[in-house]
Amino acid sequence: MLLKNCSYIITQNPKREILRNADVLIEENRIAQIGKNLKDEEMIDCSGKILMPGLINTHTHLGMHSLKGKSDEAELFDWLKSISNEEAKLTPKKTYENTLDGLREAIRFGTTTIYDSYKFSDARLEAFEEAKVRGVISSTVNNAETLKDSKKFLSGLKSKLVKGAIAANSICNCDEETLKKVIEFSNSKKLLRRIHVGETRKERYDILQQKGKLAIEYLDSIGFLGKNCLLVHCIWITKGEIRKIAGKKAKVSHNPVSNMKLASGGVMPLVEMLEENITVGLGTDSVASNNNLDMFEEMKTAALLHKHHKWNPKAITSQQILDMATIKGTECLMLDDIGSIEKGKKADLITLDIEHNLKPINDVISSAVYSANGLNVSDVIIDGKIRMEKKSLLF
Ligand SMILES: [Zn+2]
Repeated sequence: MLLKNCSYIITQNPKREILRNADVLIEENRIAQIGKNLKDEEMIDCSGKILMPGLINTHTHLGMHSLKGKSDEAELFDWLKSISNEEAKLTPKKTYENTLDGLREAIRFGTTTIYDSYKFSDARLEAFEEAKVRGVISSTVNNAETLKDSKKFLSGLKSKLVKGAIAANSICNCDEETLKKVIEFSNSKKLLRRIHVGETRKERYDILQQKGKLAIEYLDSIGFLGKNCLLVHCIWITKGEIRKIAGKKAKVSHNPVSNMKLASGGVMPLVEMLEENITVGLGTDSVASNNNLDMFEEMKTAALLHKHHKWNPKAITSQQILDMATIKGTECLMLDDIGSIEKGKKADLITLDIEHNLKPINDVISSAVYSANGLNVSDVIIDGKIRMEKKSLLF
């Protein structure tokens, strides 16, 4: 398949090259060639379009899709209470339907890889397989029983596009024995382990009272931090905790829209994390606290939040933000071969229509981060297969 005459190609390669009026040839599921005047029988005309890597959402719960707009005026702990009443009604069948609806929305908005954690993992996996979307799936662990469910799902998981992970809900939800079993299991199977941490000031206070340590210090003391660890939220953490994350090479998923919507109060210390070379990706969190899966909106919000918070327009650049939504997301999820447009990489690609709101283009990265939204996405290719063509979803 040939993507012909792309007006712009945002490669996200190590040099962060931008190409003009170039073609990309896809063979099987990989990028075979990038250049001019390439030829192939199957062709998509990409003139008037920006070609870029598909976006990577490092944190969501697609099974909650039907809960969009159910609780818009509550802080986290009140929100959890009202949402959990709704969640109790979800069956595996409804969770499958919700996941498929979530995937349709995510693809429409140009996301090609999703980390998804929730219950009923087999039902969610079925939706990912049907949609043919790249994913990392985990069953959220709260206790011994859900840990058993998680291990059972992982032992049966055989998929070309979906990898497994293990997710501890949070320090407040899991006792130490459960957390240690999650660590042991993920280390032995070389799996990604994930946890929600530092989302609210109350949580930070409660953990300090119970454990005599700050949240990240506590996680470090039991061996949770590590290269295969993804920490979600990390708003209410100190500089000392940031150094611990950096020292252990753990990764962070930043979810600014959800955090602001739940009025978490603080701002994740992104600038400080980047100064310590921590790998930070972006995530939407579920639509019950976002309320959509638009990673373009997430990119813009992240940039605005940190510039504003620091009283410094140079606090974060559009290139750094795009990195978080592409190649840094790849690293967060321990995936290879995606997140940039380079020969030999897997063909997870999207095109944006330049028409309307992206004109004029003075800086194409700026256009993608600040001018675009998810509805600019025209075509989506995952693993070399078209999933959306000229805004029509194929599943
Ligand atoms: Zn979450």
